[in-house]
Amino acid sequence: MNGLKGKNTLITGASSGIGQAIAVRLAQEGCNIAINYRKSPAGAEDTEEMALQKACADIENCGVKSLLVQGDVSQEEDITQMVNTVIEKFGSLDILINNAGIQIESPSHEVKTEDFDRVIGVNLRGAYLCARETIKHLLNQNRSGVIINISSVHEIIPRPMYVSYSISKGGMENMTKTLALEYAHRGIRVNAVAPGATITPINEAWTEDLEKKAVVESHIPMGRAGTSEEIGAAIAFLASDEAAYITGQTLFVDGGLTLYADFREAWS
Ligand code: NAD
Repeated sequence: MNGLKGKNTLITGASSGIGQAIAVRLAQEGCNIAINYRKSPAGAEDTEEMALQKACADIENCGVKSLLVQGDVSQEEDITQMVNTVIEKFGSLDILINNAGIQIESPSHEVKTEDFDRVIGVNLRGAYLCARETIKHLLNQNRSGVIINISSVHEIIPRPMYVSYSISKGGMENMTKTLALEYAHRGIRVNAVAPGATITPINEAWTEDLEKKAVVESHIPMGRAGTSEEIGAAIAFLASDEAAYITGQTLFVDGGLTLYADFREAWS
């Protein structure tokens, strides 16, 4: 896609699932990729291997650079260090993908404060701090740039038993719009992608169980869960110059999940 070749990109939580697929797709598009992981580098190494292999399928993209960057996005010092490392190794940072995310299940009246703080700390505060450090760099260098936040259909659909997750993704919508408005005139576009039910490790509870999977899929108008690659494709579009006039938006990639499937048939 136009405008991606040679762009320096940081993807948080890129050692599995959606983040991994995004890194692979952006490398295929010719981006240099910084692959963030929280603890063990094994998954990030897999991402790097897959990304470089796929990129090299197109000889023109064989030169893409890759970098593994350790960092817990709930820790401010880790974030500043991570962003500085990317800038130092790649020379600049053009595209940030805020993908790292966690969820903790609990009835809302029993949520432990430390669990609430942990989810908000990773999903919302972490995404904001990564955006803040990236924007500082872009402004200092007078560069245009792109930030994409991985939100969720739970940005707008309430999710009982996951109140901190719902709050984090709801907050992400306003963060996306606020940053988009504040920095549009400086050439920085900020958007979100909201996946529906997607087959990744975060959903092992139902993806590994055929009966549960069928129940989940019965609520999706298109009749199936999504793939990480389908999310990666939306990211590539929004990061590219094909989306040059799009900012402050959430693109739902959900097989129609947000269309209120219960209204498919007339109620009376
Ligand atoms: P996943 O569990 O495979 O990916 C989450 C990634 O975030 C992991 O690589 C994990 O190591 C990383 N991470 C967690 N805490 C971190 C921290 N403190 N610092 C750095 N990295 C950290 O699940 P996924 O489905 O690929 O999730 C990716 C994003 O997509 C999340 O933000 C999630 O909320 C969102 N999402 C997923 C779905 C879905 O159905 N899979 C739906 C909507 C939104």
